[in-house]
Amino acid sequence: MLLIVHGGASFRKPSRKSLEKIATALSSGYQLLRDGANSRDAVVHSIKILEDSGIFNAGLGGNLQSDGTMRLDASVMRGEDLRAGSVINLEGIRNPILAASLIMESPHVVMTNRGAHCIARKENLPLLSKPNAYKLKKLERSLKSHRYLSRFYQKYFSTVGAVALDLQGNLAAGSSTGGVPAMLPGRVGDTPLIGAGVYADNASGAVSCTGMGEYIIRLSLAKEIAMNLRTFSPLKAVVPSLKRLSSLGGEAGVLAINRKGRFCIIHTTEYMPSGYATKRGICVQNSFKRISGKKYAVDSK
Ligand code: ASP
Repeated sequence: MLLIVHGGASFRKPSRKSLEKIATALSSGYQLLRDGANSRDAVVHSIKILEDSGIFNAGLGGNLQSDGTMRLDASVMRGEDLRAGSVINLEGIRNPILAASLIMESPHVVMTNRGAHCIARKENLPLLSKPNAYKLKKLERSLKSHRYLSRFYQKYFSTVGAVALDLQGNLAAGSSTGGVPAMLPGRVGDTPLIGAGVYADNASGAVSCTGMGEYIIRLSLAKEIAMNLRTFSPLKAVVPSLKRLSSLGGEAGVLAINRKGRFCIIHTTEYMPSGYATKRGICVQNSFKRISGKKYAVDSK
């Protein structure tokens, strides 16, 4: 059994609060796995905790788009039957990961705001209140101080994601985001795109990505890595793809786990607050393996 959670690949040093929240999400999610829950439920549960915290760019803490509206993306996929659910640009719902999970149980895979919102309301998912004055001020500052969207990309990511392996040997992956700060309304990143931001297949592995969505989409990063997990160790499956992404000018971070429970946490950015929970306990750090050099490698045996 294994659960891995991240709070976004970033160049900004993560706060102690965010590391503590990741630890809470890990211990609570791992307890579920221990009690016999499946990997999908553990992934959704952990992500929901981070969405509810308001300190990550997901759920309550999601970024505002440039028109002042919060439109959230999330997806989840499970490895035993390749079922997946995803929501794109969901407005007014506090936990997009729960909405994605409901869609996974429907005959559909992806829903944009209107349909996803109807389903979420029918199931009484908690609502989001209007953005507060602080958020609107922050948006105003961002819009003033950054002329190019790409400059936002290079520094601040705090999307959340998780992958898990349960007692039955089933894998799952999920992710939730408010996109990139002050993005244009209608822009869609990798997070809700199955095969780009997340992928899970018991025959290969589970992957959750974060970073510059446009680059992750162009490489179909999660699926590419998952396919490589069939043959290679997690480290060897991830590094070439991240190097390629880097060479195109992108930045990203990845959680990858194979069907035997070997895993790695790798990022091109300076930080990626993340952690993992195994039967030996919980480990949470500011950063793990940075592919451009130094930092710590976590490549489980
Ligand atoms: N990948 C997300 C997006 O492009 C952003 C992030 O990971 O923080 O929307």
